[in-house]
Amino acid sequence: MSEPELRRVHEALAALEAHGRRVTLWWRDDDAVAPTPALDRLLALAGRFELPLALAVIPAQTGPALAARLAATPRVAVLQHGWQHRNHASRAEKKVELGAHRPVDAVLDELRHGRERLAGLFREQFLPVLVPPWNRIAPGVAAALPSIGLAGLSTYGAAAATNQVNTHLDILAWKPVRRPLSRAEAFSLLAAELERRLAGDDEPLGILTHHLVHDEASWTLLGDLLSLLATHPAATWPLVSSLFSPAVP
Ligand SMILES: [Zn+2]
Repeated sequence: MSEPELRRVHEALAALEAHGRRVTLWWRDDDAVAPTPALDRLLALAGRFELPLALAVIPAQTGPALAARLAATPRVAVLQHGWQHRNHASRAEKKVELGAHRPVDAVLDELRHGRERLAGLFREQFLPVLVPPWNRIAPGVAAALPSIGLAGLSTYGAAAATNQVNTHLDILAWKPVRRPLSRAEAFSLLAAELERRLAGDDEPLGILTHHLVHDEASWTLLGDLLSLLATHPAATWPLVSSLFSPAVP
C-alpha cells in the first residue's frame, strides 16, 4: 500500500474495529430531476454494493419519470433539494436559494409546495428532509422547517443540530473550477473524518456526490471509496430513513 493517505484510512478503520466501534456511513447524491444514463450508473453502483442511497431531488424540475425509475429501487430515499435550485444572491455573494434575501415566509411557501410535490410523486420513498441547494440556509428558515413538515435537515460539514445529518466527503472540488478530488485528497479527508469518529464523535459520516457532473475520474474514485467502505467490519450503512428518525417518523 504505497499511498500514505489510504494507509491512514485503513489504520483508522482498523483502530475502530479493534475498539469494537463502527462508523455510521451514508451516501447523498444531489440534483436529480429525471432518469439519465448518469443516474442509471449511480443506481447500478448503489446496487452493486447493496448500499442505501439518498437522492436529493429538485421539486420544481422533477416529475413522474423519475418517480417511475426509482420505484423499483427500494434502498433509495428521496430528500427535498430546495425548491427550484435558483440562486437569489448577488454575483458578489455565495450562491444561495434559501438565504436571507427574501422574507422567510416566501421561502417557506416555496418549500411547502416542494414538499407536497415530492410527497405526491415519490410516496413512501420521500423523506421530509431538506437538503438546501449549495448546502446553505438562513438560520430563520432552518428554524421554521418543522412548521411546514420538514423534520430533518442535511448540509455539509459537522452537524450543528439534532435533526441534522450531514455530509463530509464531497468527491468534487468546486473552486475555482469544478474538478474531481484526487485520490490523495479524498482519502485524506476520509481519514480525518474517521479519526474524528475514533476520538469519540459518533456523527454519521456522509459521502456527497453529484452524478450529473461526474467524469470518469469521479466515478472511479467513488467506486474505490465504496468498495473500501461497503463491507468493512468497522462500517455500518443504515437505511436513510433510520438515520433521520426520530426526527422523521
Ligand atoms: Zn444542488
